Amino acid sequence: MENNKKVIMSGMRPTGKLHLGHYFGVLENWKKLQEEFECYFFIADWHALTTKYNETSSMKQNVYDVALDWLACGLDENKSVIYLQSKLPQTAELHIYLSMITPQNWVERDPTLKDLAKIMKDKQENVSDLSYGLFGYPVLMTADILSFNADFVPVGIDQVAHVELTRDIARRFNNIYKTDYFVETKPKLTEIPLLKGLDGNKMGKSFNNDIKISDDEEMTLKKVKTGITDRNRMRRDDKGNPDNCEVIYSYWKIFGSEDEQKEICQGCKSASLGCADCKKMLADKINQRFAPIRQKRIELQKDPDYIRQVLIEGSRKAAIKAQEILDGVVDVIGMYK
Ligand code: SF4
Repeated sequence: MENNKKVIMSGMRPTGKLHLGHYFGVLENWKKLQEEFECYFFIADWHALTTKYNETSSMKQNVYDVALDWLACGLDENKSVIYLQSKLPQTAELHIYLSMITPQNWVERDPTLKDLAKIMKDKQENVSDLSYGLFGYPVLMTADILSFNADFVPVGIDQVAHVELTRDIARRFNNIYKTDYFVETKPKLTEIPLLKGLDGNKMGKSFNNDIKISDDEEMTLKKVKTGITDRNRMRRDDKGNPDNCEVIYSYWKIFGSEDEQKEICQGCKSASLGCADCKKMLADKINQRFAPIRQKRIELQKDPDYIRQVLIEGSRKAAIKAQEILDGVVDVIGMYK
């Protein structure tokens, strides 16, 4: 990797097989970024433990599935460093140093923590039982980013605040130890096309409203058939309005060419096209688009050890850079060596 490239880092929790929202919201962007930047992409298995410490039976499979989807979608282990968070002890050590200088109230106001606390509360878990690990989550996230002194973290507009704490902690470190060791990481804003879940809510595994990258053609069609259409179009002969077709037509905007979108609009408005046919055509488009990715996924699966090798090798590469950064931190603080 060339040294003059700016550093990008980002990660994803191991939630299992990824869906189309992940593809359009994250992976397409990462694929572009890896052509231009020195990229570190990690599977955040420690972060998963902050809320799922007692649900670890599928952890290994979930890590495998996420890595498999990443590679099938075009993340390239020769262009990006793809690693597993728990294989990078340097981040844990940096987390300790950063924990020492981070005021408690900075952590409490972090939106990430508030979101997580809300999720726990919604699950009716006692919020006073938030673990020490979950409380430290924002600092661990900062340690992930500063392990590589990352210049940018790709985020959507609603996540900009998440990067603020990293900048604040980096600035505080620099002030306390009178150095300019850490760069001030900037959010890299990305225009993310929002792909709704089939029921019109946010797409998510736990809402059972997603289409998986790895779903086969039949499953994709079955799921698309459940998608919300124009609710006022009750019968086949009713004229529809694509603007009110909150899920299916919004997918057409992503999967259809301009001409195809026009065609769908005309057919819908004149009632010459029924919703069942419209959905069938859409499922075909989705299946066409994902056919090469799904094929690659099947190929990659044939070597059961391949994913492990990629993660081990990526973690080894990540450790080289993270150790360099950590050695500098230890020096700057003035620890005994
Ligand atoms: S024809 Fe297509 S765009 Fe029109 S309401 Fe039905 S699903 Fe939506």
